[in-house]
Amino acid sequence: MIVAVASGKGGTGKTTVSANLARVFDAEVQLLDCDVEEPNAHLFLKGAGIEEEEICIPVPEVDEVLCDGCGECGAFCRFHAIVSFGAKPLVFPDMCHGCGGCAKVCPRKAIRETGHRIGVVGKIRADRVTLIQGRLDVGAPMAPPLIRAVKARMRKEVPAILDAPPGTSCPVIATIGGADFVLLVTEPTPFGLNDLGIAVDMVRDLRIPFGVAVNRVGAGDDRVHAYCRDQGIPILLEIPEDRAIAESYSRGELIVDSLPRYRPLFEELARGLFDGGSPSGNRAGYRPFKSCQGRFRRRENGCALELHGKTCCGLDNRCGKPPCEDKR
Ligand code: SF4
Ligand code: SF4
Repeated sequence: MIVAVASGKGGTGKTTVSANLARVFDAEVQLLDCDVEEPNAHLFLKGAGIEEEEICIPVPEVDEVLCDGCGECGAFCRFHAIVSFGAKPLVFPDMCHGCGGCAKVCPRKAIRETGHRIGVVGKIRADRVTLIQGRLDVGAPMAPPLIRAVKARMRKEVPAILDAPPGTSCPVIATIGGADFVLLVTEPTPFGLNDLGIAVDMVRDLRIPFGVAVNRVGAGDDRVHAYCRDQGIPILLEIPEDRAIAESYSRGELIVDSLPRYRPLFEELARGLFDGGSPSGNRAGYRPFKSCQGRFRRRENGCALELHGKTCCGLDNRCGKPPCEDKR
């Protein structure tokens, strides 16, 4: 089971949700920090470093002796990473996407590929959490190849949480592609609502099941909740606005460690998302939340997860609270 934690905008609390979710597992879990331009999960999961690897992409190198300056390579490259003005082409490695096309079209076989470093992937072990993080080199412009390198080190048999970069551009698509579920983190503000709408469109286009986590509940208005209700999107986690949480964050501490009263929120989320990847330790039969598409109505005093019918959230009413009312 792979759960990606994403958001339409930065600063909503993705890493807070990802790292705290990973911490409440009582079985082995992987946390992949795919925000390679600014990885910060390691600040909260302090552990022992295991290894660090350089990541390179293949870029062209031109053999001046063989090249006749025909310009085929420059005409082919849509990224303008190789240009020719009737002489040996110039290569701009930082703009190269490593597709290998220029070498294929070169009639003189004058291009060979050489490795160009874009960053590193490191592994850190913190109790049951294996943190795999990518760190893009300063000035390296392309995150997706490094994100793919991070994901390539994920072990399929162990549950994984992917901490995505903010936004809805290529690095996010590279992160959430292949995920079983996406948790979209937002905050109850007009900006939060606007960017949540963009993120929802993205995950719907990609046809990945998703739910929402609302951070700083109480700080803004209720328009995010109304939007989710209207759209039939389950709200799976609500973190209240609490100065103690902000103070804990600024000290580099996890909420579930420093403020144990909030631990059940994340345990419930882990149970819902991973089923057995939770304190029960049974990792078989994962069942992600599924939206009921508006079929159920939340009952008063019902489950805080909003959609708690047996057929929609997969928790089988194990908390004993009133399940949602079937409107049909
Ligand atoms: S490998 Fe692809 S992106 Fe890089 S220079 Fe060649 S054609 Fe352009
Ligand atoms: S396609 Fe090959 S021969 Fe032509 S300019 Fe490029 S490197 Fe030189």
